Amino acid sequence: MRRQRNAKIVATLGPASSTHETIRALVEAGADVFRFNFSHGSHADHQERLAIVRNVERELGRPIGVLLDLQGPKLRVGVFAEGKVVLEAGQGFRLDLDPTPGDTVRAPLPHPEIFAALEPGAMLLIDDGRVWLEVQSCGPDFAETRVTVGGPVSNRKGVNVPSVVLPISPLTEKDRRDLAFGLDMGVDWVALSFVQRPEDIDELRGLVGNRAAVLAKLEKPAAIDALEAIVERCDGIMVARGDLGVEVPPERVPLLQKRIIHVCRRLGRPVIVATHMLDSMVAAPVPTRAEASDVANAIYDGADAVMLSAESASGQYPIEAVRMMDRIVREVEHDPHYRSIIETGHPQADATLADAVCCALRRVTHVLGAAATVTYTSSGYTTLRAARERPEAPILCLTPNIGTARRLTLAWGVHPVHGEDIHDVAEMVEHAKSAATEAGFVKTGDALAIVAGIPFAHPGTTNLLHVTRID
Ligand code: PGA
Ligand code: MN
Repeated sequence: MRRQRNAKIVATLGPASSTHETIRALVEAGADVFRFNFSHGSHADHQERLAIVRNVERELGRPIGVLLDLQGPKLRVGVFAEGKVVLEAGQGFRLDLDPTPGDTVRAPLPHPEIFAALEPGAMLLIDDGRVWLEVQSCGPDFAETRVTVGGPVSNRKGVNVPSVVLPISPLTEKDRRDLAFGLDMGVDWVALSFVQRPEDIDELRGLVGNRAAVLAKLEKPAAIDALEAIVERCDGIMVARGDLGVEVPPERVPLLQKRIIHVCRRLGRPVIVATHMLDSMVAAPVPTRAEASDVANAIYDGADAVMLSAESASGQYPIEAVRMMDRIVREVEHDPHYRSIIETGHPQADATLADAVCCALRRVTHVLGAAATVTYTSSGYTTLRAARERPEAPILCLTPNIGTARRLTLAWGVHPVHGEDIHDVAEMVEHAKSAATEAGFVKTGDALAIVAGIPFAHPGTTNLLHVTRID
Protein backbone atom coordinates (compact mmCIF):
# COMPACT_ATOMS: atom_id res chain seq x y z
CA MET A 1 0.00 0.00 0.00
CA ARG A 2 1.85 3.07 -1.22
CA ARG A 3 0.84 6.70 -1.13
CA GLN A 4 0.68 8.74 -4.33
CA ARG A 5 2.02 11.87 -2.65
CA ASN A 6 5.05 13.26 -0.80
CA ALA A 7 3.49 15.34 1.98
CA LYS A 8 1.99 13.46 4.91
CA ILE A 9 -1.29 13.61 6.77
CA VAL A 10 -1.50 13.72 10.57
CA ALA A 11 -4.96 12.89 11.97
CA THR A 12 -5.94 13.45 15.60
CA LEU A 13 -7.78 10.56 17.22
CA GLY A 14 -10.69 11.16 19.57
CA PRO A 15 -14.24 10.07 20.32
CA ALA A 16 -15.15 10.21 16.60
CA SER A 17 -12.24 7.93 15.67
CA SER A 18 -11.77 5.29 18.33
CA THR A 19 -12.94 2.06 16.73
CA HIS A 20 -10.84 -0.40 14.80
CA GLU A 21 -13.04 0.09 11.76
CA THR A 22 -12.66 3.89 11.74
CA ILE A 23 -8.93 3.92 12.46
CA ARG A 24 -8.29 1.43 9.69
CA ALA A 25 -10.47 3.46 7.32
CA LEU A 26 -8.49 6.61 8.25
CA VAL A 27 -5.22 4.91 7.27
CA GLU A 28 -6.74 3.64 4.05
CA ALA A 29 -8.03 7.15 3.31
CA GLY A 30 -4.52 8.58 3.80
CA ALA A 31 -3.60 9.13 7.47
CA ASP A 32 0.15 8.52 7.96
CA VAL A 33 0.53 9.63 11.58
CA PHE A 34 -1.98 9.67 14.42
CA ARG A 35 -1.92 12.43 17.02
CA PHE A 36 -2.98 11.48 20.54
CA ASN A 37 -4.12 14.71 22.17
CA PHE A 38 -3.49 14.37 25.91
CA SER A 39 -5.54 17.52 26.62
CA HIS A 40 -8.51 15.18 26.27
CA GLY A 41 -9.30 11.58 27.14
CA SER A 42 -8.13 9.20 29.85
CA HIS A 43 -5.01 7.07 29.79
CA ALA A 44 -7.26 4.06 29.22
CA ASP A 45 -8.75 5.74 26.10
CA HIS A 46 -5.29 6.40 24.69
CA GLN A 47 -4.05 2.91 25.51
CA GLU A 48 -7.00 1.37 23.72
CA ARG A 49 -6.50 3.53 20.62
CA LEU A 50 -2.79 2.75 20.48
CA ALA A 51 -3.52 -0.99 20.60
CA ILE A 52 -5.89 -0.53 17.65
CA VAL A 53 -3.32 1.52 15.69
CA ARG A 54 -0.69 -1.20 16.15
CA ASN A 55 -3.19 -3.86 15.04
CA VAL A 56 -4.06 -1.88 11.92
CA GLU A 57 -0.32 -1.42 11.27
CA ARG A 58 0.10 -5.19 11.37
CA GLU A 59 -2.93 -5.82 9.15
CA LEU A 60 -1.85 -3.34 6.49
CA GLY A 61 1.89 -4.11 6.74
CA ARG A 62 2.75 -0.43 6.88
CA PRO A 63 4.43 1.54 9.72
CA ILE A 64 2.16 4.13 11.35
CA GLY A 65 3.53 7.03 13.40
CA VAL A 66 2.05 7.93 16.78
CA LEU A 67 2.51 11.44 18.15
CA LEU A 68 1.77 12.15 21.80
CA ASP A 69 0.70 15.77 22.19
CA LEU A 70 1.31 17.05 25.74
CA GLN A 71 -1.07 19.74 26.95
CA GLY A 72 1.74 21.89 28.38
CA PRO A 73 1.24 24.81 30.75
CA LYS A 74 -2.22 25.83 29.57
CA LEU A 75 -3.20 28.76 31.83
CA ARG A 76 -6.79 29.24 32.99
CA VAL A 77 -8.82 31.71 35.03
CA GLY A 78 -10.55 30.35 38.14
CA VAL A 79 -14.31 30.12 38.65
CA PHE A 80 -17.11 32.68 38.99
CA ALA A 81 -19.87 32.71 41.62
CA GLU A 82 -22.43 32.77 38.79
CA GLY A 83 -20.40 30.55 36.47
CA LYS A 84 -20.01 33.40 33.99
CA VAL A 85 -19.72 37.20 33.77
CA VAL A 86 -19.87 39.68 30.91
CA LEU A 87 -17.05 42.24 30.88
CA GLU A 88 -17.62 45.65 29.27
CA ALA A 89 -14.91 47.40 27.27
CA GLY A 90 -13.40 50.21 29.34
CA GLN A 91 -14.20 48.80 32.77
CA GLY A 92 -11.60 47.83 35.35
CA PHE A 93 -11.09 44.16 36.24
CA ARG A 94 -8.86 42.70 38.94
CA LEU A 95 -7.16 39.30 38.84
CA ASP A 96 -5.61 37.83 41.97
CA LEU A 97 -4.62 34.68 43.84
CA ASP A 98 -7.64 34.78 46.18
CA PRO A 99 -9.61 31.59 45.41
CA THR A 100 -12.97 33.22 46.26
CA PRO A 101 -15.17 32.79 43.13
CA GLY A 102 -15.14 35.85 40.87
CA ASP A 103 -17.72 38.48 39.87
CA THR A 104 -17.87 41.44 37.46
CA VAL A 105 -15.02 43.33 39.15
CA ARG A 106 -12.52 40.57 40.00
CA ALA A 107 -11.68 36.90 39.46
CA PRO A 108 -9.13 34.37 40.68
CA LEU A 109 -6.17 33.64 38.41
CA PRO A 110 -4.44 30.71 40.16
CA HIS A 111 -1.00 31.17 38.56
CA PRO A 112 1.55 33.05 40.71
CA GLU A 113 4.06 32.69 37.87
CA ILE A 114 1.91 34.96 35.67
CA PHE A 115 1.90 37.73 38.30
CA ALA A 116 5.65 37.29 38.73
CA ALA A 117 6.21 38.04 35.02
CA LEU A 118 3.57 40.72 34.33
CA GLU A 119 4.35 44.36 33.74
CA PRO A 120 2.05 47.33 33.20
CA GLY A 121 1.02 47.38 29.54
CA ALA A 122 1.06 43.58 29.17
CA MET A 123 -2.03 42.01 27.61
CA LEU A 124 -3.99 39.07 28.97
CA LEU A 125 -6.13 37.30 26.35
CA ILE A 126 -9.02 35.19 27.59
CA ASP A 127 -10.89 32.38 25.81
CA ASP A 128 -8.80 32.16 22.62
CA GLY A 129 -8.49 35.92 22.44
CA ARG A 130 -12.18 36.77 22.66
CA VAL A 131 -11.66 39.09 25.66
CA TRP A 132 -8.63 41.36 26.15
CA LEU A 133 -7.34 42.82 29.40
CA GLU A 134 -4.53 45.38 29.61
CA VAL A 135 -2.49 45.40 32.82
CA GLN A 136 -2.51 48.81 34.54
CA SER A 137 -0.62 47.89 37.69
CA CYS A 138 0.45 44.63 39.26
CA GLY A 139 2.17 42.94 42.18
CA PRO A 140 3.24 39.42 43.15
CA ASP A 141 -0.36 38.34 43.81
CA PHE A 142 -2.62 40.66 41.77
CA ALA A 143 -3.09 42.62 38.56
CA GLU A 144 -5.40 45.58 38.03
CA THR A 145 -6.47 45.56 34.39
CA ARG A 146 -8.62 47.50 32.00
CA VAL A 147 -10.91 45.62 29.60
CA THR A 148 -9.98 46.64 26.05
CA VAL A 149 -12.17 44.04 24.28
CA GLY A 150 -15.23 43.00 26.26
CA GLY A 151 -17.32 39.86 26.21
CA PRO A 152 -18.38 36.86 28.26
CA VAL A 153 -15.89 35.04 30.50
CA SER A 154 -16.90 31.78 32.13
CA ASN A 155 -15.30 29.26 34.51
CA ARG A 156 -11.76 28.06 33.73
CA LYS A 157 -11.44 29.76 30.34
CA GLY A 158 -7.92 29.72 28.89
CA VAL A 159 -5.59 32.69 29.33
CA ASN A 160 -2.81 33.64 26.90
CA VAL A 161 -0.07 36.08 27.94
CA PRO A 162 1.73 36.70 24.64
CA SER A 163 4.14 39.48 25.52
CA VAL A 164 5.98 37.93 28.46
CA VAL A 165 8.26 34.93 28.90
CA LEU A 166 6.74 33.07 31.84
CA PRO A 167 9.21 31.65 34.39
CA ILE A 168 7.61 28.21 34.32
CA SER A 169 8.68 24.69 33.48
CA PRO A 170 7.48 23.64 30.03
CA LEU A 171 6.06 20.47 31.61
CA THR A 172 3.34 20.44 34.25
CA GLU A 173 2.85 17.58 36.71
CA LYS A 174 0.12 16.27 34.42
CA ASP A 175 2.49 16.43 31.43
CA ARG A 176 5.09 14.42 33.35
CA ARG A 177 2.55 11.70 34.17
CA ASP A 178 1.24 11.70 30.58
CA LEU A 179 4.78 11.53 29.19
CA ALA A 180 5.76 8.57 31.37
CA PHE A 181 2.56 6.80 30.41
CA GLY A 182 2.97 7.55 26.69
CA LEU A 183 6.59 6.42 26.58
CA ASP A 184 5.69 3.13 28.29
CA MET A 185 2.83 2.73 25.85
CA GLY A 186 5.32 3.15 22.97
CA VAL A 187 4.64 6.44 21.17
CA ASP A 188 7.04 7.52 18.40
CA TRP A 189 6.93 11.31 18.76
CA VAL A 190 6.37 13.58 21.76
CA ALA A 191 5.10 17.13 21.13
CA LEU A 192 5.55 19.88 23.69
CA SER A 193 3.02 22.74 23.81
CA PHE A 194 3.76 26.42 24.52
CA VAL A 195 7.53 26.07 24.07
CA GLN A 196 9.15 29.38 25.05
CA ARG A 197 12.90 28.76 25.07
CA PRO A 198 15.45 26.38 23.53
CA GLU A 199 16.14 24.97 27.02
CA ASP A 200 12.51 23.77 27.18
CA ILE A 201 13.42 21.23 24.52
CA ASP A 202 16.50 20.10 26.46
CA GLU A 203 14.30 19.50 29.49
CA LEU A 204 11.90 17.34 27.47
CA ARG A 205 14.70 15.44 25.76
CA GLY A 206 16.28 14.73 29.12
CA LEU A 207 13.07 12.93 30.11
CA VAL A 208 12.46 11.23 26.76
CA GLY A 209 16.01 10.05 26.01
CA ASN A 210 16.07 7.87 22.89
CA ARG A 211 12.62 6.46 23.43
CA ALA A 212 10.85 8.86 21.07
CA ALA A 213 11.54 11.79 18.78
CA VAL A 214 10.90 15.26 20.16
CA LEU A 215 8.75 17.94 18.52
CA ALA A 216 8.12 21.57 19.52
CA LYS A 217 4.76 23.21 19.00
CA LEU A 218 5.42 26.81 18.00
CA GLU A 219 2.60 28.91 19.41
CA LYS A 220 4.37 31.61 21.52
CA PRO A 221 6.04 34.81 20.24
CA ALA A 222 9.03 34.02 22.49
CA ALA A 223 9.56 30.75 20.58
CA ILE A 224 9.53 32.64 17.28
CA ASP A 225 12.24 34.95 18.65
CA ALA A 226 14.41 31.86 19.30
CA LEU A 227 13.25 30.02 16.19
CA GLU A 228 16.54 28.65 14.84
CA ALA A 229 17.86 27.53 18.22
CA ILE A 230 14.60 25.72 18.95
CA VAL A 231 14.37 24.05 15.54
CA GLU A 232 17.99 22.92 15.83
CA ARG A 233 17.32 21.19 19.15
CA CYS A 234 14.17 19.37 17.93
CA ASP A 235 13.52 16.41 15.68
CA GLY A 236 10.38 18.07 14.32
CA ILE A 237 8.19 21.17 14.54
CA MET A 238 4.49 21.96 14.54
CA VAL A 239 3.15 25.33 13.39
CA ALA A 240 0.39 25.37 16.05
CA ARG A 241 -1.76 28.05 14.47
CA GLY A 242 -4.60 27.82 17.01
CA ASP A 243 -2.73 29.33 19.93
CA LEU A 244 -0.19 31.09 17.70
CA GLY A 245 -3.10 33.01 16.13
CA VAL A 246 -4.19 34.13 19.59
CA GLU A 247 -0.71 35.11 20.77
CA VAL A 248 0.11 37.07 17.61
CA PRO A 249 -2.33 39.05 15.44
CA PRO A 250 -3.99 36.86 12.77
CA GLU A 251 -2.31 38.75 9.95
CA ARG A 252 1.11 37.61 11.26
CA VAL A 253 0.25 33.90 11.09
CA PRO A 254 0.71 33.33 7.32
CA LEU A 255 4.20 34.82 7.20
CA LEU A 256 5.26 33.10 10.41
CA GLN A 257 4.07 29.82 8.90
CA LYS A 258 6.26 30.45 5.85
CA ARG A 259 9.24 31.52 7.96
CA ILE A 260 9.00 28.47 10.22
CA ILE A 261 8.72 26.09 7.25
CA HIS A 262 11.70 27.77 5.60
CA VAL A 263 13.90 27.33 8.70
CA CYS A 264 12.76 23.71 9.14
CA ARG A 265 13.54 22.91 5.52
CA ARG A 266 16.97 24.50 5.84
CA LEU A 267 17.77 22.54 9.00
CA GLY A 268 16.15 19.35 7.69
CA ARG A 269 13.51 18.95 10.40
CA PRO A 270 10.04 17.65 9.49
CA VAL A 271 7.42 20.38 9.94
CA ILE A 272 3.65 19.99 10.41
CA VAL A 273 1.16 22.75 9.60
CA ALA A 274 -1.68 22.37 12.11
CA THR A 275 -5.08 23.60 13.22
CA HIS A 276 -8.29 24.68 11.48
CA MET A 277 -7.11 23.37 8.10
CA LEU A 278 -10.49 21.88 7.17
CA ASP A 279 -12.37 23.19 10.19
CA SER A 280 -15.80 23.41 8.56
CA MET A 281 -15.59 19.65 7.92
CA VAL A 282 -16.27 19.15 11.63
CA ALA A 283 -19.91 19.59 10.64
CA ALA A 284 -19.99 19.40 6.83
CA PRO A 285 -18.89 16.73 4.31
CA VAL A 286 -17.04 19.28 2.14
CA PRO A 287 -14.59 22.07 3.10
CA THR A 288 -14.80 25.72 2.16
CA ARG A 289 -12.74 26.82 -0.81
CA ALA A 290 -10.58 28.90 1.54
CA GLU A 291 -9.78 25.79 3.59
CA ALA A 292 -8.82 23.83 0.48
CA SER A 293 -6.50 26.72 -0.43
CA ASP A 294 -5.00 26.71 3.04
CA VAL A 295 -4.01 23.03 2.76
CA ALA A 296 -2.71 23.59 -0.77
CA ASN A 297 -0.59 26.58 0.29
CA ALA A 298 1.06 24.61 3.09
CA ILE A 299 2.07 22.02 0.46
CA TYR A 300 3.41 24.70 -1.90
CA ASP A 301 5.39 26.07 1.08
CA GLY A 302 7.07 22.67 1.29
CA ALA A 303 5.65 21.48 4.61
CA ASP A 304 6.26 17.82 5.45
CA ALA A 305 2.77 17.28 6.82
CA VAL A 306 -0.65 18.82 7.25
CA MET A 307 -2.81 18.05 10.26
CA LEU A 308 -6.44 17.49 11.21
CA SER A 309 -7.59 18.21 14.78
CA ALA A 310 -11.30 18.27 15.64
CA GLU A 311 -12.09 17.29 12.03
CA SER A 312 -10.90 13.74 12.71
CA ALA A 313 -11.11 13.62 16.53
CA SER A 314 -14.65 14.75 17.22
CA GLY A 315 -16.21 15.84 13.92
CA GLN A 316 -18.93 14.15 11.94
CA TYR A 317 -16.78 13.41 8.88
CA PRO A 318 -13.35 12.13 9.99
CA ILE A 319 -12.76 9.84 7.02
CA GLU A 320 -14.03 12.37 4.49
CA ALA A 321 -11.68 14.97 5.99
CA VAL A 322 -8.63 12.72 5.52
CA ARG A 323 -9.75 11.80 2.03
CA MET A 324 -10.20 15.47 1.14
CA MET A 325 -6.76 16.36 2.47
CA ASP A 326 -5.25 13.50 0.46
CA ARG A 327 -6.93 14.77 -2.70
CA ILE A 328 -5.80 18.35 -2.20
CA VAL A 329 -2.19 17.30 -1.57
CA ARG A 330 -2.09 15.06 -4.63
CA GLU A 331 -3.63 17.76 -6.80
CA VAL A 332 -0.96 20.28 -5.76
CA GLU A 333 1.87 17.82 -6.23
CA HIS A 334 0.67 17.13 -9.78
CA ASP A 335 0.71 20.83 -10.64
CA PRO A 336 3.62 21.41 -13.07
CA HIS A 337 4.46 24.60 -11.11
CA TYR A 338 4.73 22.72 -7.81
CA ARG A 339 8.21 21.40 -8.62
CA SER A 340 9.61 24.80 -9.54
CA ILE A 341 8.13 26.35 -6.40
CA ILE A 342 9.71 23.62 -4.25
CA GLU A 343 13.06 24.12 -6.02
CA THR A 344 12.97 27.85 -5.32
CA GLY A 345 12.99 27.04 -1.61
CA HIS A 346 15.75 24.47 -1.98
CA PRO A 347 18.35 24.76 0.80
CA GLN A 348 22.11 24.56 0.21
CA ALA A 349 23.79 21.32 1.22
CA ASP A 350 26.02 21.46 4.31
CA ALA A 351 29.69 20.55 3.82
CA THR A 352 29.24 17.02 5.18
CA LEU A 353 29.65 13.56 3.62
CA ALA A 354 25.94 12.85 4.15
CA ASP A 355 24.82 16.03 2.39
CA ALA A 356 27.28 15.56 -0.46
CA VAL A 357 25.88 12.08 -1.06
CA CYS A 358 22.24 13.19 -0.72
CA CYS A 359 22.83 16.15 -3.02
CA ALA A 360 24.22 13.71 -5.60
CA LEU A 361 21.21 11.46 -5.02
CA ARG A 362 18.92 14.29 -6.03
CA ARG A 363 20.96 15.07 -9.14
CA VAL A 364 21.21 11.44 -10.24
CA THR A 365 17.47 10.95 -9.70
CA HIS A 366 16.79 13.89 -11.99
CA VAL A 367 19.32 12.96 -14.69
CA LEU A 368 18.18 9.33 -14.93
CA GLY A 369 14.52 10.03 -14.24
CA ALA A 370 14.89 7.38 -11.54
CA ALA A 371 11.60 5.82 -10.47
CA ALA A 372 12.61 5.63 -6.82
CA THR A 373 15.40 6.36 -4.40
CA VAL A 374 16.33 4.02 -1.56
CA THR A 375 17.93 5.05 1.72
CA TYR A 376 19.37 2.64 4.25
CA THR A 377 19.22 3.99 7.75
CA SER A 378 19.23 2.84 11.33
CA SER A 379 18.84 6.18 13.12
CA GLY A 380 16.87 7.86 10.31
CA TYR A 381 19.54 10.50 9.73
CA THR A 382 20.43 9.48 6.15
CA THR A 383 16.78 9.44 5.16
CA LEU A 384 16.05 12.86 6.65
CA ARG A 385 19.01 14.39 4.84
CA ALA A 386 17.77 12.77 1.61
CA ALA A 387 14.23 14.08 2.25
CA ARG A 388 15.71 17.54 2.83
CA GLU A 389 16.89 17.41 -0.79
CA ARG A 390 13.26 16.89 -1.95
CA PRO A 391 14.28 14.47 -4.75
CA GLU A 392 11.92 13.99 -7.70
CA ALA A 393 11.27 10.31 -6.91
CA PRO A 394 9.84 8.80 -3.73
CA ILE A 395 12.24 7.81 -0.95
CA LEU A 396 11.95 4.18 0.01
CA CYS A 397 13.52 4.03 3.45
CA LEU A 398 14.76 0.61 4.52
CA THR A 399 15.53 0.29 8.20
CA PRO A 400 16.07 -2.56 10.65
CA ASN A 401 14.66 -0.31 13.38
CA ILE A 402 10.86 -0.25 13.70
CA GLY A 403 10.99 2.93 15.81
CA THR A 404 12.87 4.71 13.01
CA ALA A 405 10.38 3.45 10.42
CA ARG A 406 7.48 4.81 12.48
CA ARG A 407 9.10 8.19 13.14
CA LEU A 408 9.84 8.70 9.46
CA THR A 409 6.15 8.38 8.53
CA LEU A 410 6.09 12.14 9.22
CA ALA A 411 8.84 13.04 6.74
CA TRP A 412 8.23 14.42 3.24
CA GLY A 413 8.40 11.82 0.47
CA VAL A 414 9.50 8.97 2.76
CA HIS A 415 7.96 5.53 2.45
CA PRO A 416 9.44 3.62 5.41
CA VAL A 417 9.84 -0.16 5.31
CA HIS A 418 10.93 -2.15 8.31
CA GLY A 419 13.30 -4.94 7.27
CA GLU A 420 16.34 -6.96 8.18
CA ASP A 421 19.91 -5.86 8.71
CA ILE A 422 22.17 -6.03 5.68
CA HIS A 423 25.87 -6.78 5.65
CA ASP A 424 27.46 -5.89 2.31
CA VAL A 425 26.88 -3.80 -0.81
CA ALA A 426 25.78 -6.70 -3.04
CA GLU A 427 23.16 -7.69 -0.49
CA MET A 428 22.09 -4.04 -0.17
CA VAL A 429 21.53 -3.67 -3.93
CA GLU A 430 19.53 -6.88 -4.17
CA HIS A 431 17.47 -5.96 -1.15
CA ALA A 432 16.80 -2.45 -2.48
CA LYS A 433 15.67 -3.79 -5.87
CA SER A 434 13.32 -6.34 -4.42
CA ALA A 435 11.90 -3.95 -1.81
CA ALA A 436 11.28 -1.25 -4.43
CA THR A 437 9.64 -3.79 -6.74
CA GLU A 438 7.46 -5.25 -3.98
CA ALA A 439 6.34 -1.80 -2.85
CA GLY A 440 5.29 -1.05 -6.43
CA PHE A 441 7.75 1.79 -7.02
CA VAL A 442 9.69 0.24 -9.93
CA LYS A 443 9.40 -2.14 -12.87
CA THR A 444 11.93 -3.74 -15.22
CA GLY A 445 14.22 -1.19 -16.83
CA ASP A 446 13.65 1.54 -14.22
CA ALA A 447 16.63 3.29 -12.65
CA LEU A 448 17.08 3.17 -8.89
CA ALA A 449 19.38 5.37 -6.81
CA ILE A 450 20.51 4.08 -3.42
CA VAL A 451 22.27 5.84 -0.54
CA ALA A 452 23.74 4.17 2.51
CA GLY A 453 26.61 4.32 4.96
CA ILE A 454 29.47 1.85 5.11
CA PRO A 455 30.18 0.11 7.42
CA PHE A 456 26.50 -0.79 7.79
CA ALA A 457 24.75 -0.39 11.13
CA HIS A 458 27.01 2.51 12.18
CA PRO A 459 24.73 5.56 12.42
CA GLY A 460 26.06 8.79 10.89
CA THR A 461 28.24 7.24 8.18
CA THR A 462 26.28 8.18 5.03
CA ASN A 463 28.99 7.87 2.36
CA LEU A 464 27.72 5.73 -0.51
CA LEU A 465 25.65 6.36 -3.62
CA HIS A 466 24.89 3.40 -5.85
CA VAL A 467 22.95 3.59 -9.12
CA THR A 468 21.38 0.59 -10.76
CA ARG A 469 18.60 -0.61 -13.07
CA ILE A 470 15.90 -3.17 -12.36
CA ASP A 471 16.64 -6.26 -14.48
P1 PGA B 1 -3.68 22.52 20.61
O1 PGA B 1 -2.42 22.85 19.71
O2 PGA B 1 -4.77 22.05 19.70
O3 PGA B 1 -3.18 21.47 21.52
O4 PGA B 1 -3.96 23.81 21.31
C1 PGA B 1 -2.53 23.25 18.39
C2 PGA B 1 -2.65 24.74 18.24
O5 PGA B 1 -2.60 25.51 19.20
O6 PGA B 1 -2.79 25.14 17.07
MN1 MN C 1 -2.10 24.99 21.18
